[in-house]
Amino acid sequence: LTSSATSSGLYVIQIAVEMAPVAKVGGLGDVVCGLSKALQKKGHLIEIVLPKYDCMQYEHIRELRALDVEIESYFDGQLFKNKIWVGTIEGLPVYFIEPHHPNKFFWRGTFYGEHDDFKRFSYFSRAALEFLLRAGKKPDIIHCHDWQTAFVAPLYWDLYAHKGLNSARICFTCHNFEYQGTAPASELASCGLDVDNLNRPDRMQDNSAPDRINAVKGGVVFSNIVTTVSPTYAQEVRTAEGGRGLHSTLNFHSKKFIGILNGIDTDAWNPATDTFLEIQYNANDLQGKAENKEVIRRKLGLSSRDAQRPLVGCITRLVPQKGVHLIRHAIYRTLELRGQFILLGSSPVPQIQREFEGIANQFQNHDQIRLILKYDESLSHAIFAASDMFIIPSIFEPCGLTQMIAMRYGAIPIARKTGGLNDSVFDVDDDTIPSQFRNGFTFLNADEQGLNCALERAFNLYRNNPESWQKLVQKDMNIDFSWDSSAALYEELYSKAVARARAAAKGA
Ligand code: ADP
Repeated sequence: LTSSATSSGLYVIQIAVEMAPVAKVGGLGDVVCGLSKALQKKGHLIEIVLPKYDCMQYEHIRELRALDVEIESYFDGQLFKNKIWVGTIEGLPVYFIEPHHPNKFFWRGTFYGEHDDFKRFSYFSRAALEFLLRAGKKPDIIHCHDWQTAFVAPLYWDLYAHKGLNSARICFTCHNFEYQGTAPASELASCGLDVDNLNRPDRMQDNSAPDRINAVKGGVVFSNIVTTVSPTYAQEVRTAEGGRGLHSTLNFHSKKFIGILNGIDTDAWNPATDTFLEIQYNANDLQGKAENKEVIRRKLGLSSRDAQRPLVGCITRLVPQKGVHLIRHAIYRTLELRGQFILLGSSPVPQIQREFEGIANQFQNHDQIRLILKYDESLSHAIFAASDMFIIPSIFEPCGLTQMIAMRYGAIPIARKTGGLNDSVFDVDDDTIPSQFRNGFTFLNADEQGLNCALERAFNLYRNNPESWQKLVQKDMNIDFSWDSSAALYEELYSKAVARARAAAKGA
């Protein structure tokens, strides 16, 4: 059961509730897999701990087997047994925790959105640490993600460091400060944390509601390293408007807080090898891209009459953060500009889902617009490959992955200048940016005029200057969005934290 770092590399354990491709809801899943693969490639020992959901895509797990030990973990005043499974995902060793708790926490046919999510994930955080302790693991870094595993930080220092799981520094990454995991203070006691000790303004007490505790705040206060997913977003969340109540906490802890832009998994997202595509292509073979456009037009019943009619794509969760009113506007504006539009998205918000179902029905038999309101991995690849342009009009965007994937597939992004979009999309007409970095169309104001202006500039270049357009497509396809450089930044943060810990231990 026990492992240790094989070389001079670090031993890093990721504790998370998503991991692509087996359990992915959004960008978090991509990051856990992509960052881990890049760190492993750099010679570090990486292990991942996930809940064992019933609804995972088990076909992507190799050699899944149950360990012949059961780990008992504490919850609500009792000990519960957990079965531990191990398997390999994309070459990475992954442990899965299956609680034998009567509430069947991960046996719900869904990852999130349950009434007892706070219990489900505080349970998981505790069980994951219990497993690391019992297995005798001695990681250098435990890296937890988002509110669901933010509990790991206070649990580690308050309980587990004293029990002997004391080799690690804790890194906490918040992928979206919109979701903070708050609950009545008493609920914190379920996983064994001391409510009286932690429900204080400088610890886990919610900054807006003193009778509630805030898991993300706990992650920020009790971790050695705190990161978020882009430099611009790291600045935004330190302001009263952007911090969703946590700006003062982040400012207080600013020395350990940094924004690192996510990469994308360039093996999974590679138009030259992508098996979801009928025709693979690369930057020197844009005919292949044109054929993908033709394929999807036929598949979705869109007109093929005009090969040069620009195709605008959008793939997103339909939530207010993504600028749903601007996405709706972009559909109608694209039609007026004589383009084609494909939206792939679904919404956890019933009202938004209904609204878009209405628009989908309106265009059901239209030959220029198609809305597909579901989650579909395979179709998403086909749409990235087929699109000439890709819109991301987010109100806020911690990092955003679709703008990078779009560029890799030769679809030019049209994005609002916010968060990670501001760190990865640079306007072709912006003279203040060196020309080699300019790669798309951006707008600042989250309104229809702002979006129109960027969309119209894109249409003009596409129609009036096909040569420049093609050069732009080739340039975007060749940008390096791999995890290499971002993983190197994480590596540096981890190493510094470990060095500081060793120096402190020597001095003690
Ligand atoms: P977020 O994490 O906020 O959802 P990101 O841009 O960081 O946004 O990541 C979204 C990821 O989910 C991308 O890989 C995108 O392709 C994928 N995605 C979003 N909606 C869908 C959908 N309906 N079908 C398939 N993939 C989707």
